Amino acid sequence: MYRTSTCGELRISDVGKTVTLAGWVQRSRKLGGMTFIDLRDRYGITQLVVENDLSLGREFVIQATGKVVERESKNPKIPTGDIEIKVESINILNKSLTPPFTIEDQSDGGEDLRAKYRYLDLRRNPLKKALELRHRIAHEVRNYLDAQGFLEIETPYLIKSTPEGARDFVVPSRMNPGQFYALPQSPQTFKQLLMVAGYDRYFQIVRCFRDEDLRADRQPEFTQIDCEMSFVEQEDVLGMFEGMMRSLFKNVLDVDIPNPMPRMCWYDAMDKYGSDKPDVRFGMTIHEITSEVQGHGFGVFDSVPYVGAIAVPGAAGYTRKQTDELTEWVKRPQVGAKGLVYIKLNEDGTIKSSVDKFYSEDDLRKVAAAVEAKTGDMILVLCGQKRKTQTQLGVLRVEMGGRLGLRDPHVFAPLWIVDFPLLEWSEEDGRFYAMHHPFTAPKPEHLDWFYSDKKEDLERVCANAYDFVLNGTELGGGSIRIHQADVQERMFQVLGIGKEEAEYKFGFIINAFKFGAPPHGGLAFGFDRTCALFGGQETIRDYIAFPKNNQGRDVMIDAPSKIDAVQMDELCLASTVKTIDP
Ligand code: ASP
Repeated sequence: MYRTSTCGELRISDVGKTVTLAGWVQRSRKLGGMTFIDLRDRYGITQLVVENDLSLGREFVIQATGKVVERESKNPKIPTGDIEIKVESINILNKSLTPPFTIEDQSDGGEDLRAKYRYLDLRRNPLKKALELRHRIAHEVRNYLDAQGFLEIETPYLIKSTPEGARDFVVPSRMNPGQFYALPQSPQTFKQLLMVAGYDRYFQIVRCFRDEDLRADRQPEFTQIDCEMSFVEQEDVLGMFEGMMRSLFKNVLDVDIPNPMPRMCWYDAMDKYGSDKPDVRFGMTIHEITSEVQGHGFGVFDSVPYVGAIAVPGAAGYTRKQTDELTEWVKRPQVGAKGLVYIKLNEDGTIKSSVDKFYSEDDLRKVAAAVEAKTGDMILVLCGQKRKTQTQLGVLRVEMGGRLGLRDPHVFAPLWIVDFPLLEWSEEDGRFYAMHHPFTAPKPEHLDWFYSDKKEDLERVCANAYDFVLNGTELGGGSIRIHQADVQERMFQVLGIGKEEAEYKFGFIINAFKFGAPPHGGLAFGFDRTCALFGGQETIRDYIAFPKNNQGRDVMIDAPSKIDAVQMDELCLASTVKTIDP
């Protein structure tokens, strides 16, 4: 037997027992002819005392047998700190090279080095806690959904292109030369087929693959809690998954979230927060001030369709240097504003702006009233196209919220965003795209617009689509689906997907819908992101055992990598790969 106890379980009540422990040497120090060893495993650290000089390297794997004794100098920082093991026999099970960084909560290793030796990084507490949390959440999800009668059903990975709008990863088929599978961007079509098949409550904790440029904190493969239900309306889906989130918050974090959860329609979210994933932990909402500021001879405002503002609490004391810095900040490409106008409601009652030339004190006070600004606030104004400017104000709002410390990761403000537009017009491509995906149903009351040929009508069509938003992050989203073949055909037509292309790509689902598809709907939650937010962290990487870096590489196993000529041949792939200079 390798061990009788773990390194995390022995307490003062165990004193006198003879035990055997096994684990890794966290630290070993010699003192007055004795050796003190901190022995670590997944469960904790226990101190071993050996009555002679012993040389053990860090991360050696050892096994020790001895008596549990009360410690003279106790360590209140660890649960086993009241006891130590007086070692009678010790056995080196395996040696270790000196690890390239310290296996401590705060490691001295840089990110790249730790990624290369991920298995060592995973020995560290913060990562262990992250993976434990991930397991706990998965377990709670399964418990909840199982109790609600959901079946966990796996769907294939080697499939045909799915419609989430990202680029597919493809896999060449050796048995079908010249043909390729696509890896699923989500199991969307399969879960809908399961509804046709009568499995009216489906879920899966499932890997999805999207070949996107890895913007901050995305992974090419990530995990979703994917769900679908039949014979449901939007209300049923929201109720079911509000329940799931409520039970996760309660059982994992002991946090009560509001019941019912707040809802906001997409248009309000855009108008007031400049985002379809508003962070509602703080106010500072956006106000339109176009009519207040136009017609005063200030050409910049007069020449645009929209002027909007936020009132930043307590920021009237910003110095010139700080407002200059903020102006530069909004001009960064990530925000993309042309400039920034400010109005300060000084503590002494005066009001001062960067556009005093054009506006009297009275004019500025009208703006302040429209923005609901108070003494001590600084109003920040941006202008331009409506949605674009609102989005910029939204980014600025979140930045200012962060600077003011209003974005505490341990405060949770979840809400549903509902009533999304069905379609999104792309100026660039001169065509509509599905805002969610092409299987999302238009609201029944908007069907007339949906069948209209006018762009304005189509733009007005709303979908029974919904997103679950937490602290400024979209954690999940879904919709009621189209279940009638003719509506689905119209959708493809609106999206400019020709009959042939639709048939080629989605013929299987269009056909299936002709065999009695029930009304259905569902959603998917980003599982990695849920874990990260529950853990109070911004990045999902720590919640994935073996993540990829920003270039989509696994630097530990060194993938992707070339395959040999034989494999290339078998796959009927030409062995000349176009190389692109970095
Ligand atoms: N398949 C969708 C997604 O991955 C979620 C859904 O509509 O259920 O975003």
